[in-house]
Amino acid sequence: MSQYAKPLQNLIRELSKLPGIGGKTAQRLAFHILSMDNREAASLAGAITQAKAEMKYCSVCGNLTDKDPCAICTDPSRDQATICVVEQARDVAAMERMKEYKGLYHVLHGAISPMDGVGPEDINLRQLIIRLQQNDVQEVILATNPTIEGEATAMYTARLIKPAGIKVSRIAHGIPVGGDLEYADEITLSKAMEGRNEL
Ligand SMILES: [Zn+2]
Repeated sequence: MSQYAKPLQNLIRELSKLPGIGGKTAQRLAFHILSMDNREAASLAGAITQAKAEMKYCSVCGNLTDKDPCAICTDPSRDQATICVVEQARDVAAMERMKEYKGLYHVLHGAISPMDGVGPEDINLRQLIIRLQQNDVQEVILATNPTIEGEATAMYTARLIKPAGIKVSRIAHGIPVGGDLEYADEITLSKAMEGRNEL
């Protein structure tokens, strides 16, 4: 990389910080960006700046949104009595692609992982409890990832909620263990929701 001039080195370094982008890909992308005309490159840079400035987390559910509360939380046609708990905002997008689930969401922004020093207080659980206290929720569907962390989070959350008399269910394992919800195809995700088990 040191054979490149400073500005190009900087671009490659920034791109290689992105998930799934290795050094080779970062170089390829950097050369591609430099081959774009000025307007295209400015539009790419502008989209990053604008998305960063205007997107925020919904204060109710934690989903990514440009309006607070988000479009899902404020949609009166959605089932207000069901909340699906997911780890990341991108999991909401995966569930929405399925087009079958009509309830609300709650994004935890992580999973409990004692190994990494992430405890229940480090994820968006407190806000979930507040929502359950303030609204008439009948069912909470735990759709955290089928990983050790995701399972631990589901178990902890279920123990926390069950005493309130709310039905708690866990999505079935159509999703491969160790897999990521966001990469599940719509049919697998739909089957996982259908076959959910009450905890
Ligand atoms: Zn929301």
